[in-house]
Amino acid sequence: MTPSPDPAAETGPGAGRAFAIGLRNRFRGITVREGMLVRGPAGWGEFSPFAEYGPRECARWWAACHEAAHRGWPAPVRDRVAVNVTVPAVDPGRAHAIVAAGGCATAKVKVAERGQDPAEDLARVEAVRDAIGPSGKVRVDANGAWDVDTAVRMVRALDRYGLEYVEQPCATLDELAEVRRRVDVPVAADESVRRAEDPLKVRAADAADIVVLKVQPLGGVRAALRVAEACGLPVVVSSAVETSVGLAAGVALAAALPELPYACGLATMQMLTADVTADPLLPEDGYLPVRAVEVDEERLRAVETEPGPWRARAEAAIAADRRD
Ligand SMILES: [Mg+2]
Repeated sequence: MTPSPDPAAETGPGAGRAFAIGLRNRFRGITVREGMLVRGPAGWGEFSPFAEYGPRECARWWAACHEAAHRGWPAPVRDRVAVNVTVPAVDPGRAHAIVAAGGCATAKVKVAERGQDPAEDLARVEAVRDAIGPSGKVRVDANGAWDVDTAVRMVRALDRYGLEYVEQPCATLDELAEVRRRVDVPVAADESVRRAEDPLKVRAADAADIVVLKVQPLGGVRAALRVAEACGLPVVVSSAVETSVGLAAGVALAAALPELPYACGLATMQMLTADVTADPLLPEDGYLPVRAVEVDEERLRAVETEPGPWRARAEAAIAADRRD
């Protein structure tokens, strides 16, 4: 351990800058995305665990932030990362317009929205297929909302429009495994992967063909690369709806993976109403560039909030990590 006083203290949580940025649409029940940015010798890092996470969970998010600020990331093997446009549970006309404006060759369509019926999912996916053309890829994401029989029925019906894969059709690993046995469309696990050991459980249960990985919950780019290697399944890198600073870590993971057969869910900057950089990580022709992100002082100040609670959260995460 580093003897005190900690020489990295001035770039540790005590110097973190907190932010609060509005979301264009409600996401996970929140309308404001909050977190903290830290600058270290390697660049900027983002620490933005969701409010319900305690210190032990936050320790991994802090590790990801610390890696970005103090160590940087492994060398990329590609200089750009294909990304998908995301279509919320909107009407077909709006879905068509979102895909047409997105400029991406892959679309992810939200389905199984509470209060909607199957005909709405079918109409939305039909509109997306029409907008993206026959060579585009269409995947659907049920966020675990279907039971097994509904998932099997809906995946077969939606596959009329050609599905690349279905993301988290049901909530549990046993259910995913059963759906996977009964349909031809590949299954991706997203909500089932929250901790480093989860992808191995997914694999052991034969519950998915693909795993969705996020950098912050897994404790950084290197940790996520180890998880990907141990799991052995194809990876789709996704964001936790971060600023461009956090997204850059996702891009770094996607850029460092030996194989990247699917477009990633990293085109989420548009979900926020502001960013902390003058040069946001937005897709161009369906790709994000692999590059560093510089924080713009004026833009950060425009979204800056009281850092005390976030610094305390990071300190608690560090303390929890030391106890483990
Ligand atoms: Mg998902």
